Amino acid sequence: MVLKRDKELERKIARERIDELMKRSQIYKYTSYELAKRYVELAKKISMKYRVRMSREQKRSFCKKCMYPYRADRMRVRIKKRRVIVTCLNCKHSRRFQLKPKTSNIV
Ligand SMILES: [Zn+2]
Repeated sequence: MVLKRDKELERKIARERIDELMKRSQIYKYTSYELAKRYVELAKKISMKYRVRMSREQKRSFCKKCMYPYRADRMRVRIKKRRVIVTCLNCKHSRRFQLKPKTSNIV
């Protein structure tokens, strides 16, 4: 008999591990930047393998290109035309985030 994988359970565990790794990367980013980067890499790998989405906050907490977590002294934040532009100073990669949709009337 072939044991069926419990994919729901696997993804639940994956989600927990991602949360823990991302939490740790935030804790260690000022003391051990390399370690923090490693945590991000692992979390990213797990999220891809088990197809678990990271939360908005998690996705925005590190540089997609070099995988280092964003850190006050290694990033630049500018606001331009309703967009937040975050530049990573490790690899100069920049990302733009929409501040607020133009059509929205809600403050
Ligand atoms: Zn970067």
